Formats: sequence, structure tokens, C-alpha cells
Amino acid sequence: MTRLIFLGAPGVGKGTQASRLAQKVGVPHISTGDLLRTAVSQQTPLGSKAKAYMDQGQLVPDELVVSLIEERIQEPGAQIGWILDGFPRNVAQANVLEQLLDRMRQHGKQVINLDVPVDVIVQRLLERGRADDTEEVIRNRLSVYQSQTTPLLEFYKTRDQLETINGNASVEEVEASLWQAIQAQPEP
Ligand code: AMP
Repeated sequence: MTRLIFLGAPGVGKGTQASRLAQKVGVPHISTGDLLRTAVSQQTPLGSKAKAYMDQGQLVPDELVVSLIEERIQEPGAQIGWILDGFPRNVAQANVLEQLLDRMRQHGKQVINLDVPVDVIVQRLLERGRADDTEEVIRNRLSVYQSQTTPLLEFYKTRDQLETINGNASVEEVEASLWQAIQAQPEP
């Protein structure tokens, strides 16, 4: 059973690795960024509320993101496991997730922190060229990550669920280290 949370700054390659791994083990890849971008492009009420935050590189308010993830993770397809990418992004979201998983009686998740030096991240993001990847927005997203998301490293470390992987290598090399880390994990 694969239940995995990917942590790491924007641009460390979370999305790429999460998507490859999800395909390999056959569980859904759940990215709140993707869910939000879909909502924005479909101009749903939630998407319209989220857009301004995303454009500035700020976190979308918790209640919007939480409602998306609650719905998605309870879908039948997610009962066999999941890989979360981009959620949780702060301690409040992590607490909501703990409660949700308790309610669903899902235990034994693993948290992977993909670690890449900050200058490499900025370079990668500038090369990616997504709409919210201008230099100013990138700087914003990195500082939001630093202040809001890095406390999660401690949160999961104290729960003995955290594993850090060097993400400053080729996609294949990172994939291999990731695979090793997952295999080494005892079944809950
Ligand atoms: P990402 O694709 O994960 O880089 O997310 C793109 C943008 O979506 C972020 O800069 C945030 O504005 C928003 N976002 C994604 N996930 C979350 C989340 N868990 N909480 C708040 N905002 C989020």
C-alpha cells in the first residue's frame, strides 16, 4: 500500500517524481496545484477565488484547498493508496490531513522531502516558464515555502515519518533513490 506525501520547495521536481512513481505503483497522483489549475481554467467559483493567490505565489486559503483534497482522497480510486504532491503546505493543513486519515482509518504513510539547493531551484523554475514562474513570483513562492511549509519537516520528523532525498541529480537517479527509500519502508 503506497501512501506517500512529497515535500520540497517549488521546482525540486516533486511533480515529475510523484507522477512517475504513481504510474509505477499504480496509485493516483494527487496534486493540489493541478486540481487548482483545473478549477481556474474551468472558472469554477473555487477557481475564481484561488486565482489571485496563485498568480502572486501566495498560498490559497486552507478551506479551499482542504475541500478539494477531502473530496479527492475519498474517491474510490484513492482507497488503494495515493501520492500527495503539494499538500499539505502548512501545519494547519497537515493537522487536517491527520484527522481525515484517522477518520478514514488510513495509517502508515511515508513523507519524502526532496532536497535541492536554492540556486538550482531558481534556475529550474525560470527554465520551466509556467505562467506563475516569473522571477518575482518565484521569489515569493520560495519565501512562502520557507516560512509556511518547512515547519512540516519538523512536524513529520517528530512522528518518525520523514525521509530526505537528494533531488539535485538526474530524474533517473532521483527516481532510483526514491524507489530505494520506499522499498526500505516496513509495511504498517
Ligand atoms: P504547485 O503546482 O504545487 O506549485 O502549486 C501552485 C500554486 O497553487 C501555489 O503557488 C499555491 O498558490 C497553490 N497551492 C497548491 N497547493 C496548495 C496548498 N496545499 N495550499 C495552498 N495553496 C496551494
